[in-house]
Amino acid sequence: MVDSFRHKGMRKKLVDTIKRKGIMDHRILEAVGNIPRHLFLDSSFLEFAYEDKPFPIGSGQTISQPYTVAFQTELLDIKQGDKVLEIGTGSGYQACVLAELGAKVFTVERQKKLFQKTKAFLLTIGYRQIKCFYGDGYKGIPAFAPYDKILITAAAPEIPKLLTDQLRVGGYFVIPLGSSDVQTMIRIGKKEDGSLHQEKFGAFRFVPLLKNKAED
Ligand code: SAH
Repeated sequence: MVDSFRHKGMRKKLVDTIKRKGIMDHRILEAVGNIPRHLFLDSSFLEFAYEDKPFPIGSGQTISQPYTVAFQTELLDIKQGDKVLEIGTGSGYQACVLAELGAKVFTVERQKKLFQKTKAFLLTIGYRQIKCFYGDGYKGIPAFAPYDKILITAAAPEIPKLLTDQLRVGGYFVIPLGSSDVQTMIRIGKKEDGSLHQEKFGAFRFVPLLKNKAED
């Protein structure tokens, strides 16, 4: 798997683009600058890998737009050693950005083929600190709860109760919320008394969060 000077040059431009769009955290910019995004797409799509756009990755799914990945990561305010639950592994790109920031990542994917492919791929490129699970993200992974941070990378029609239960007090939960074409990015914080506090961060477009696991 090749990561050439050309790829690195394209990546640098992508970092400039998302910086211009408002991403400030230099650790996130460095992560985007480090991760060979072209390896997450089929090799014939090199030209698209470093555009600030989402892209189909098979099984009807997409790799999120780099700006969106960076934006959700910024909202999570990742600290070294944070335990993070991601719902919607997809290509694994977002999980790698979180891992680059020092998070211990637990990520769930409902499509079996995609789960198998991404799990193997992440090991190949050396991200052993990311644990991949096949299952229904609505249920989370109670065995490793509570999480410092939780992230959904698909459009959620409602806030999944089983996930807020798995968020630690003082933690953040970032969700593109809504069932129409466009969702509102929201961040939920959990207070000492267990109550939830919500903030809104603008409009985004995601593929839908679906119920249950799929076999293919
Ligand atoms: N984070 C990904 C982008 C994910 S696209 C990346 O960086 O590439 C959304 C993903 O969520 C898809 O792969 C889809 O199959 C998955 N998904 C949808 N509903 C889900 C559910 N209930 N549980 C787990 N994954 C789900």
